[in-house]
Amino acid sequence: MKERQVFVIVGAGLAGAKAAQTLRETGFGGEIVLLGEEPERPYERPPLSKGLLLGAAERESVFVHEAGWYAEHDVDLRTGVRATSIDRATRQVELADGHRVGYDALLLATGATPRRLDVPGADLDGVLALRTLSDSDRIAAALVDGAHLVVVGAGWIGLEVAAAARTRGATVTVVERSELPLLRVLGPNIARVFADLHRDHGVTFRRGATVQAFRGAGRVSAVVLGDGTELRADAVVVGVGVRPEVTLAEQAGLTVDNGVVVDQALRSSDPRVYAAGDIADAYHPLYGTHLRVEHWATALHSGPAAARSMLGAEVVYDRLPYFYTDQYELGMEYTGYAPPGGYDTVVVRGDLTQREFIAFWTAGGRVMAGMNVNIWDVTPQIADLIRSQKPVDLARLADPGIALEDVTTIDTQPPATARSNR
Ligand code: FAD
Ligand code: NAP
Repeated sequence: MKERQVFVIVGAGLAGAKAAQTLRETGFGGEIVLLGEEPERPYERPPLSKGLLLGAAERESVFVHEAGWYAEHDVDLRTGVRATSIDRATRQVELADGHRVGYDALLLATGATPRRLDVPGADLDGVLALRTLSDSDRIAAALVDGAHLVVVGAGWIGLEVAAAARTRGATVTVVERSELPLLRVLGPNIARVFADLHRDHGVTFRRGATVQAFRGAGRVSAVVLGDGTELRADAVVVGVGVRPEVTLAEQAGLTVDNGVVVDQALRSSDPRVYAAGDIADAYHPLYGTHLRVEHWATALHSGPAAARSMLGAEVVYDRLPYFYTDQYELGMEYTGYAPPGGYDTVVVRGDLTQREFIAFWTAGGRVMAGMNVNIWDVTPQIADLIRSQKPVDLARLADPGIALEDVTTIDTQPPATARSNR
């Protein structure tokens, strides 16, 4: 009789936990070992920069499963332990505590690590990153009424922390190297909406600025900018992006480019090794290219997809990238993929100044991505427009009087010769 198979998951975050759940739900009867470096059981990160900082979410609400779920489902969750290497020849994962775990299939879901600023004073107390629950606790403790917070980087972390901090009564300055927050990802018109939102809530932006040093005696007290300006700081949150945690994959000799390169079934260059979540640079059949998406929904869905793939199912992971943010009274969802240079026209349906609109990033009339701001229940329609890959009438796209389902697609029939082959 064949021994019980062992599936090992490295990375006990959302992707890893959801993969373990899917393995059990689809009837996998073998061993599941879920390895996590953090002390906590798997949790979701979005509340760390929103509800938890605001004091609006219960700490217990962030966890992916109840504490007893892992034992009840015979998932061997080992927390506080780092996987240090993978021996693909003997199919073993080595752990920092000296143990080795053999595997029949291995899922890498090791997430990402915040980038640091390599400037003097970066190690001072009070210069904080935001990735883990304990990071969120430290930042929440610093957000007292009247505290001076400096946020470095006006990406998603920077803006969400700024919103929470202002709501808690802190004085907030955001240091951003470009002219507008989120400029690179959203383009100037939509980036301006976020800049105005934060200004209206009392955030000060230092645009086109770089950090030269953090200053303080043991604890940070000031941020020194490239032009010599000193900003008072009781605490600093650095949100300058993340790097995918691919150390293990590289050491194991897997193909790594922007992340762990996987096919549409989330299988790496070694057919027994899979990757999901923030580290996976997955081939996307719709876009015809590899995409690495650092967002919650990708972890939520690609973990289960990788689990099904590990079980031998024919998996095509082709979900559209999706993410959301909540800042003050602005809520938005973004669907699709429109990298800088990947679109030519941004079409707006609605009112930018009222912060109630849908923006579409289009290329040659085709919708590449859409963002709904304070308008809800339109994600499926936006996704349909993207998936159609057909040019649309941009005037009708911009017209709020026309239902998204009724935005005419301009029929681009393939040439007669191609048609006759169908
Ligand atoms: P992670 O959640 O990073 O989990 C990976 C786990 O693997 C970590 O616990 C790590 O410690 C562990 N690990 C790494 N290496 C090893 C090793 N060698 N051995 C053992 N364990 C290891 N996305 C959205 O779409 N919307 C949001 O509103 C949003 N808000 C966010 C707010 C914050 C503060 C942060 C940090 C992220 C937010 N994101 C949001 C992004 C989203 O949380 C991530 O895309 C998601 O967490 C990725 O999940 P993951 O499972 O791939 O990786
Ligand atoms: P991010 O969204 O990639 O933004 C990083 C920001 O830092 C960008 O504005 C970038 O500017 C700037 N930056 C980069 N290097 C810098 C430097 N040396 N000095 C000053 N600014 C610099 O990353 P993040 O905000 O740190 O978030 C971390 C991860 O969490 C990301 O994966 C993000 O997707 C995820 N997250 C998502 C959400 C959400 O979806 N709502 C919320 C929080 C976090 P340029 O654009 O000019 O490079």
